[in-house]
Amino acid sequence: MEPRAIAILGATGSIGTTTLAVVRAHPTLLRVAGLAAHSRWRDLIGPVKEFQVKTIALADPAAAAAARASGDFPGVRILEGTAGLTEIACLPEVHTVVSAVVGTAGLAPTLAALHARKHVALASKELLVLAGKFVTAAARAGGTTLLPVDSEHNAIHQLLRGKERSEIARLVLTASGGAFRDMPLAELARVTVAQALQHPNWNMGPKVTIDSATMANKGLEVIEARWLFDLPESRIDVVVHPQSIIHSLVTLTDGSLQAQLSPPNMAYPIQDCLLFPRRLPCPAPQLNLAEALALTMSPPDPARYPCLTLARAAAVAGGTAPAIFNAANEVAVEAFVAGRLPFTGIPELVRQTLAALGAREPNALDEVLAADGEARRTASRLAPSLAR
Ligand code: MG
Repeated sequence: MEPRAIAILGATGSIGTTTLAVVRAHPTLLRVAGLAAHSRWRDLIGPVKEFQVKTIALADPAAAAAARASGDFPGVRILEGTAGLTEIACLPEVHTVVSAVVGTAGLAPTLAALHARKHVALASKELLVLAGKFVTAAARAGGTTLLPVDSEHNAIHQLLRGKERSEIARLVLTASGGAFRDMPLAELARVTVAQALQHPNWNMGPKVTIDSATMANKGLEVIEARWLFDLPESRIDVVVHPQSIIHSLVTLTDGSLQAQLSPPNMAYPIQDCLLFPRRLPCPAPQLNLAEALALTMSPPDPARYPCLTLARAAAVAGGTAPAIFNAANEVAVEAFVAGRLPFTGIPELVRQTLAALGAREPNALDEVLAADGEARRTASRLAPSLAR
């Protein structure tokens, strides 16, 4: 059997490098057909050599020009811009596209890949939060599989395999609770950026780490789950599970719960997506049950995590509301990291932005992107009034 050809959009980020580690562990089953990044072309030199990649793309045309001029990519085709990312995703030999570009730059290339009948391993949240309607429609039309990389959704995907829809009562997403899970509520307004950047279990970028502390991340994941598994927000629960070992659960019709457990290491869900439906040893440490393992779960406190409530309301409102939530949250986190907003100002700015803008049902991707832009402008205008 020919190895399965993988294209990675977002090859230099943490999902991209973990994807390469998984490919490295299964050289007879997987190969890399194309790599795309935003602008860090030097980080592609090593992988291009190691995996003998013939085509790469850089979203930033200046970076593409620098890569071509460097002479570090002999015999490699270097594409650029959204068109370049799209070409990588749609290369004829590609079987699975790992879509891990941060922000909206991955939207058009990923939709094109689905239309070209590629399987897509989805890592960037924006795709489903902003364009769930279009992404799921494209996957259905192409008859391809959308495989979630996000650990919670990957867990649910695994749990749902081989089950009838009628067996599923509810989905339960686990959340670590973030850096301030146990802090007295009154102290939240004074937390520093450095404190917010300390995540108990996962090693992630600043945006996701802060989203984990506010649970905006879990709110986005409720919206993702709504699209991936075609269930209403009201049937998607969230439970705080500080150890991040149980990645999610499903509640079955009879009241039984089933869970997926593994160490908090993204190699597990990534490998599941790349090898699906095969299961093989994963190049990451396994849980050692010869050591004591305590697993706890508790309901999230709405007073501590208002972003979760706001995201749920956006999920119910539908249309462009999730895009507005996401854009306002990004602006708010940026302002917090820059010292222009207190931690508690994050949900407040999101709430005010959602209240200021009405959600509409989008008929095209352009309308979603317009709503995203409008929400960013509105949140930026409102932010100074909430400054510390
Ligand atoms: Mg997650």
